[in-house]
This record gives sequence, structure tokens and C-alpha cells, in this order.
Amino acid sequence: MLAEIKGLNEECGIFGIWGHEDAAKLTYYGLHSLQHRGQEGAGIVVACGGHLSGYKGLGLVTEVFQSGTLDVLHGPAAIGHVRYSTAGGGGYENVQPLLFRSQTGSMALAHNGNLTNALELKLSLEAQGSIFQTTSDTEVFAHLIRRSQASTFVGQVKEALSQIEGAFAFLLLTEEALYVALDPHGFRPLSLGRLGSAYVVASETCAFDVIGAAYEREVAPGELLIINGEGVRSERFAPERPRSICSMEYIYFARPDSHVDGINIHTARKNLGKQLALEAPADADIVTGVPDSSISVAIGYAEASGIPYELGLIKNRYVGRTFIQPSQALREQGVKMKLSPVRGVVAGKRVVMVDDSIVRGTTSRRIVTMLREAGAVEVHVRISAPPITHPCFYGIDTSSREELIAAKHSVEEIRRLIGADSLAFLSKEGMMTAIGRPDVSPQRGQCLACFTGQYPTRVGQVTRPCLTVK
Ligand code: SF4
Repeated sequence: MLAEIKGLNEECGIFGIWGHEDAAKLTYYGLHSLQHRGQEGAGIVVACGGHLSGYKGLGLVTEVFQSGTLDVLHGPAAIGHVRYSTAGGGGYENVQPLLFRSQTGSMALAHNGNLTNALELKLSLEAQGSIFQTTSDTEVFAHLIRRSQASTFVGQVKEALSQIEGAFAFLLLTEEALYVALDPHGFRPLSLGRLGSAYVVASETCAFDVIGAAYEREVAPGELLIINGEGVRSERFAPERPRSICSMEYIYFARPDSHVDGINIHTARKNLGKQLALEAPADADIVTGVPDSSISVAIGYAEASGIPYELGLIKNRYVGRTFIQPSQALREQGVKMKLSPVRGVVAGKRVVMVDDSIVRGTTSRRIVTMLREAGAVEVHVRISAPPITHPCFYGIDTSSREELIAAKHSVEEIRRLIGADSLAFLSKEGMMTAIGRPDVSPQRGQCLACFTGQYPTRVGQVTRPCLTVK
């Protein structure tokens, strides 16, 4: 589905490189391939000649980095970030990487995820005299590093990492090294690759493909990588906990050409569609998917059911960013701007419409209505995930609980509200099997909290989910 109009949004994508003369340009390409993870702001910081310098701004990567901007960012190491304005809100000051300067050296930080104890830590740090420049929870991590009494910088980073909770994939750049850390549950994806003698790190492997880098391995939960002129050193800052990789990465967020924790996203989604066809068959003439994330699912549904796949919905790729601002009024207008039914395909047909999730239900209702207006005689909605009944505290905007339609209504009630002829969601077990993580072995676990309400970490100190509906 279309993130901008749906009400589900990823917070960020991160990219880092060490040991390449074109570090800033490669970071630009890497960020461009991660643009789907955040469209509100982008930035790059490079390390060169003993100092850090950066450039950032509000907007898409191509809008922020216009001709000539990258030419002033020289150096063999860089980190970059694309941001969706959720935790901490929007605004230039919250665009990352955040750059901190002090007499003992500079550092830059890029973060994907959400710290569930940020507020608690921030209050404590403020009581000790810290002053914050941003409303982003990422800044808390920098203060914890600077306040650490450990004798080495690595020790300070590890001590800070051990105090934060929640979901985090961090890139930290200094003049001496690139530090890479993933939280002990591994909520967010983070991969390590090689480009010749250079090392690269990215939220998704599609960023490696675009620059011609080779995938090496996943960053392990609780691992701290230190990358410098001597290579990569791996240390631990916390014992590994049961893996809780975000299910929505597979269902919805990641690009189809990415591998997340070793699983190709297109293949996982196709399998979700096949499983959905087994669990929730429909008597229909065509199957169509809501672009982009549900196309792979619809292909799988069609393959398993024998009902032909058709392009029943078209996405307009040339809508200006004005229409992706996350306000309810524009979001609703955005549905029409961004999606069109193909009348010649759906008219007179019984249509299976496959989508990845129903958040508030407003978008699903509009799509069902659009298909009927285009002549579909029946619309059967099939969802490739269980109902979302709980908010996310780990960096995904899934609305507050009051706004989640499945938190208050049965499947039959939702069917009536969205105006479908039938509606079915995929089972939790079916989803895990289809993705390829069916067992509950500690290393293969998934976060299911937005479907079950069982959060893998303490969330009691959080005063709000990652985002409330705007
Ligand atoms: S609660 Fe849902 S969206 Fe959030 S990390 Fe867990 S699976 Fe992902």
C-alpha cells in the first residue's frame, strides 16, 4: 500500500561507508535507494582530514542534494540518513545525521528506530545539566556517550548502548572510525557489505545493489562493529536476546529486491499471498494488488488460487510531495491522487483486492468504492497480515490504539465499514510460516506486538506510541 496515505510509516533508513574516496556520492546513491523508508528529510556527514562536515535538509534526497552540494563533501568515510518525521516531530533540527562537536573530538549519529526509555533518560540528563538541541530521542544517546566515565571511547559507546532500550540501529561516525550497533532484540534490519576494500552498512541490501557492493552478513543483535583502517572488529555490548525483527518489514516496508535477515522480500510476500489463498479462498474472476507492496502478494495469491492476476489498480508516481503530508485531510485526498482503478480490467468482474494491512480503514473503504465505481461487481478484500490491534513503540507509525479499526471492531464489522463483499486476514501462524520464520527459536523470532499486544521490551515509560495520528 502507499505509505503516505495509508497511515503506516517507517521512520528512517541509514547508510554508512568507510574506506572509499567517493564516500559522499555513494552514500547519496545508497540513501536514494532507501527513500521509501523516509521522505521528510535527508542528510550526509563525511569524515575528512581530521574533521567532520555535513549537509542536510528537509525533503527527498534529490531535493536536498542538488547539483554541486555533494562536491564539497570530500572524504573516505560517510554516514547518511533519510527520515520520516515521527518521534520528536519534524523540523530541520531533527533531520539526521546529528553532528556534535567538542574539544575532545566530533561525532555524527544516524539512527533508525525508537528508544522506549528516551523520555526517562532525557529527564534524568536534564536534571544533571544537559541541554538538548532537538526533540529527537537520538540526541539522548550522544549525551550518554559524553557523560560516560569509561576510559576509552569504545567503552563510552558500549556504556551508553547498555542504558538505552527499544529499537535502534545506530551509525556513529568519528574521525577515527565508523561504529555500528543494533539493539539486543534486532528490531530493525541492518546489513554489512563490501565494496572493494571499503565497508558499507545499510538498513536494506537494495542499497548495496545500487552501488555494486557485495553483501557480507547481518549485523547481529547486541553487536557493536568498529570499522576503521584496520578492518572490522566485532564486540558485544549486550547479550543477544530472542530476535524480534519487525514483521512489517517483510509485509510492507522493505523494498521487494532487498533481503532482510537473509529472506528476499518479494519471495516472502509471494508466499504470504499463497498462504492467504489457502486460508481465505474467494470465488472471483481476477486478483489485483494495491501497489506497491501488495503486488507480490497478489501474484502469489493468483498462483495458488488459479485466478488470473490483473493490473486492476495503478499508482500515479508523479504526484507532488504536497500530497504526502501526513494530515488526515490530505491523506484522504491523496488516495485519489495516487491510485486509480483500471476500468477496462475491473468492469463487470468479481475482484479479489489484496492489501497488506488495514490501519484506520478509511483508505480500504475508498479503494473498495473506487473499484465499484469502475464497474467491479464484487470486491473481496484479502489482507496479508493479521489485524493490527496495538500501536508500535519501536519506530513505526501505526496510529494510536483508538484510531486502529481492528482494535474496536470484529472482522465482520470491518467488512461492513469498508464496504467489501468479503474480508479475510492472514493468520499469525500462516504469516510466520510464509515469511520463512515459522519457529520460535530465539534467533528466528519476529516482533508481533502490533498484532498481539505482547511487546518484546518494557514500554511502560513511553508516554505515547511512536506516532499518534495527525
Ligand atoms: S509492533 Fe509491529 S510495526 Fe512495531 S516493530 Fe513490532 S511488528 Fe514492527
